[in-house]
Amino acid sequence: MNIGVLGAGQLGRMLALAGYPLANRFTFLDTTGHPSAGIGDVTVYTDQHHLDDFLAKVDLVTYEFEHLPVALVQAIEEVRPVYPSSEAIRVCQNRAEEKALFDRLGIPTPAYRLVEHADELEAAARELGCPVVAKSVTEGYDGKGQAVLRDPADAADAWRAIGHPRLIVEAFVDFVREVSIIAVRGRDGEVVFYPMAENQHVDGILRYSLAPMPDLDDSVQQTADGYIRALLDELDYVGVLTLELFQCADGSLLANEMAPRVHNSGHWTMDGAVTSQFENHLRAIQGLPLGDTAARMPTCMVNVIGQEGDPAAILAIGDAHLHRYDKSERPGRKLGHVNLVASTHEALMERVRACAALLPEAPEPRFSFE
Ligand code: AMP
Repeated sequence: MNIGVLGAGQLGRMLALAGYPLANRFTFLDTTGHPSAGIGDVTVYTDQHHLDDFLAKVDLVTYEFEHLPVALVQAIEEVRPVYPSSEAIRVCQNRAEEKALFDRLGIPTPAYRLVEHADELEAAARELGCPVVAKSVTEGYDGKGQAVLRDPADAADAWRAIGHPRLIVEAFVDFVREVSIIAVRGRDGEVVFYPMAENQHVDGILRYSLAPMPDLDDSVQQTADGYIRALLDELDYVGVLTLELFQCADGSLLANEMAPRVHNSGHWTMDGAVTSQFENHLRAIQGLPLGDTAARMPTCMVNVIGQEGDPAAILAIGDAHLHRYDKSERPGRKLGHVNLVASTHEALMERVRACAALLPEAPEPRFSFE
């Protein structure tokens, strides 16, 4: 089976690494001009010939990047099966569509307003009560295209800084922690759920993900499972879906956003779960049985951002697994990640701190259970 992947970054690279044992081949279609997968057969898409070449090679198509022209994905869907469908891309690349879907399915979110003018932004900030977070409706990721307003009077500056014609304005959530749930739906509608992860972001960029959480109530996992199942079934989804949520002091969950793909907060599964998110995505899209999602042991993923640190020193930590993306160093760039595994959360946190000390730009790890 030759799998076509739209996007050619590290997520595509890790999909391929998981697919080779299944005898899959990979052909990437890059739309950014900067492919970094460093593996498989990569086509940089600039015209119809490239697309035709790509389609001639592949049996089915998936993606590792959702900021793609929907019309392009719809055109591909006419020729080859695409999993997840273009409908998932259409919804997930637009925060307004995403929130409307959450509302329709009864999945709670922070209070929000849609605005199309600086004056409307100011009125929304007044109505919701500051602080609020303003986000571009499209094209935002990793905290880009966002601004926090501490006062409605900040609206004109925030509007200019974001520079987008349509924003979503959300009440600022005083969360206890950020969490995510990853689930996989097969072609036959079977759904499996990974244990939820606690995620630490700095400036909108994920730095650490830890799973399973030692203090997570079963009922919270079940609530998250219910939310993501509703999304999967509504979209008749095939593959891995990720839902990021805020957990509040009373244990309740508010949905932040979703990603129609394998996700950075699921990288821990490569070494910490029976079946990784990458393998399970490939199983799902090929109509194969889904693998066990159970965690083997407490695991923490540490992102390597900006500078590589000393790989040999990192590998000297017990049960440390380094995944490098073969990219050059640049401030803020995701270069790799380390999965640390230990038999207890206490031992795990010692390893996480030892790893963070070896990474020049790593923030101090802080988890809510400590
Ligand atoms: P997003 O791109 O929507 O995932 O936002 C990036 C990060 O900004 C999140 O991971 C949170 O740390 C923070 N953030 C986003 N929306 C809110 C909100 N409504 N309240 C508090 N923090 C937020």
